[in-house]
Amino acid sequence: MLNDIKIIDEIYREGYLFAQYGIYLKKKFKEKIFKIPVDIGLGCPHKKNGGCIFCSEMGRPISVKYCDVKIPLKEQIEKQMINQSKKGFEKFYIYFYPGTNTYAPIEKLKEIWDFCLSYNNVIGLSIGTRPDCLEKEKLDILAEYVENGYDIWIDLGIQSVHQKTLDILNRGHKVSDIIKSIKECHKRKIKVCGHIILGLPRETWNEMMETAKILSLLEIDAVKIYPLVVVKGTKLEEIYWKGEYRTLDEKQYVNLVCDFLEHLSPYVLIQRLSKDKVPDNLKVSPEWSLNRFKIMNKVIEELKKRGSRQGLKYGQ
Ligand code: SF4
Repeated sequence: MLNDIKIIDEIYREGYLFAQYGIYLKKKFKEKIFKIPVDIGLGCPHKKNGGCIFCSEMGRPISVKYCDVKIPLKEQIEKQMINQSKKGFEKFYIYFYPGTNTYAPIEKLKEIWDFCLSYNNVIGLSIGTRPDCLEKEKLDILAEYVENGYDIWIDLGIQSVHQKTLDILNRGHKVSDIIKSIKECHKRKIKVCGHIILGLPRETWNEMMETAKILSLLEIDAVKIYPLVVVKGTKLEEIYWKGEYRTLDEKQYVNLVCDFLEHLSPYVLIQRLSKDKVPDNLKVSPEWSLNRFKIMNKVIEELKKRGSRQGLKYGQ
């Protein structure tokens, strides 16, 4: 794990119940930091295999202003920088968000990454991708940025560490790809934020808690936790209307997030506990609001009620 453990200990001493990434960033950099999401339109290699059953428009975002492949990259970055600077943000990460952002020839990727890091106020990159799309040569270039003092993250679509679940989701890769990609990143001091979905089809409570434990043992640096959302036009929608899958209700989801946090190492940073808003005309289920601040407050409330915190059951 590449996190600063002393800062995380301080976060708990101040009374926080989980290792909140935003608080960690403020303490580490002593400045307000914002992640600028950008869409560079790289698509996804898994598209030819039908894609993941929950994937909407192959990972394109649905509601982030200026994160739009139709807008030149420079403009996507600078428009958001101007807006966020007005809110007091001084330093930025560039976050390559929709699709598989390592799915391009190495020269093209290097040109894009170099361009993003040419801004004086950009301190690093977060690159969203699949576990089977992280070739050694690409990681080696990212390692050079780390050596030059940049903070480089891979935002890794994991969802679950159980092969039967990955197969149900049609993820098209193996659990071993997840393990290998985390290890290869860490070898090069590249940090990894795993994206996890709770409430996946046919996944049991024990299996979800095993995901928390295994990611902790792999010393993952951070996680983003999401509920599974049924979006129009996806394979999951068909399954949903056949009555073969039901989404979690809000209380079930909040309880599961708390259980997951309890089984996770206390030193894994928590970047998110819910999704961005999915427009009502595209969302099939669940009906409750996904607002991440609302969900975070409910999780805090529940942890307080339990007298619990992140990591309380880790190692038990
Ligand atoms: S890997 Fe990501 S972008 Fe590709 S199909 Fe799956 S969810 Fe969509």
